[in-house]
Amino acid sequence: MSCHDIVSADGQVHDSNRIEFLDRYLSQLQKAGDEGADIRGYFLWTFLDNFEWDKGYNERFGIVYVDFATQKRTAKDSAYWYQRVIETNGGILSMNDTNAANAAKEILWMKPVFKQMIWGGNKLGSKWGYEIPGENTGECWAVSAHPNGDCTIKEGTFAGKTLSQLWSEEPQLFGNAAGDRFPLLIKIIDANDDLSIQVHPDDTYAGKNENGSFGKTECWYILDAPEGATLVIGHNAKDKAELEDMIGSGRWEDFLREVPVKKGDFIQIDPGTVHAIKGGIEILETQQNSDITYRVYDYGRLQDGKPRELHIEKSIDVITVPAKSVKESVINIATDAKNTMNELISCNYYRVWKLDVDGSMEISQEYPFLIMSVVEGDGLINGQLIKKGDHFILPNGFGKAQLQGKMALIASTIA
Ligand code: ZN
Repeated sequence: MSCHDIVSADGQVHDSNRIEFLDRYLSQLQKAGDEGADIRGYFLWTFLDNFEWDKGYNERFGIVYVDFATQKRTAKDSAYWYQRVIETNGGILSMNDTNAANAAKEILWMKPVFKQMIWGGNKLGSKWGYEIPGENTGECWAVSAHPNGDCTIKEGTFAGKTLSQLWSEEPQLFGNAAGDRFPLLIKIIDANDDLSIQVHPDDTYAGKNENGSFGKTECWYILDAPEGATLVIGHNAKDKAELEDMIGSGRWEDFLREVPVKKGDFIQIDPGTVHAIKGGIEILETQQNSDITYRVYDYGRLQDGKPRELHIEKSIDVITVPAKSVKESVINIATDAKNTMNELISCNYYRVWKLDVDGSMEISQEYPFLIMSVVEGDGLINGQLIKKGDHFILPNGFGKAQLQGKMALIASTIA
């Protein structure tokens, strides 16, 4: 197989994806041999990185890295691994490894789902490089097992399975965490226009009024925002009577609290918090896996000639009065340390971290599972290339992961 291998800072070439590929390939070969097929004559192709007639020097196929300028050769990790395969006569192939620890070392790469929205734009294509379904693409459901957008696994042992399938069929990957569904949902939102003013119920209210659904707690990491950008977070009503009056008479300017925000800000939206993302802002959202939303106000906009449904009574039921202070909601983490996991929030539903990798760092995946999204730059995780827009899960028991490069990531797990 070909990879865009590079020599790492430690002078080695960490091509763990090639090792995984060869492991699967040679396992099939062994299986064929075990079943009586004559497999003499099979050998590992290719030994050296070389010139390919249709690809030139662009892609690397070998287990030995060749610096094409100097002809210097560096044995890749896969070469040392292959040496061990020969020494043990296949004994180290994962199919012969009875403790199956290798499955836990496999990264689950997500294939996102995209949603077109009346307020969406095209930045998920132009800035993120995704193949979007068209203009007005508002949301990338990057890690989701929600029935309205279930991500599939891109490659590896579980390729083609949906995240919801994995949750029910392979619970050990998620540390056998409780619950009948994957608990979190990660989205990237491109708000080309203002989103409706909305509020979410908590678990108790949703359970009673929405057929046993969960409520929704969510948080936002601001990926990009234009100069002078604001979000709606909270409101200015001092009691329930004023709240009903302001909503009832449509005094939106008095009612809504607009808060200035900039790239790198982080905002926790508890249930009961009136909120809206404003046009021009890009956000990574970590939330409970739920879509119970009460729309308070939609600026009188029409979708297919009709206004979208509003939920005034339920909104008034659940809106917290008075609202939490701005200071309690907006966390600015722009100055936080490099090459460490900076915790942004820990609440009843999730823990979220920001990682600024500059050089290299090691993380220890000791959580039930760890979701990671690359939001800036590129680099490597255990030798595999990752770049802005990649989303993946490190399963339970993954252990240590080495991150290298210059990139920013948002990570999360359940509380
Ligand atoms: Zn929301």
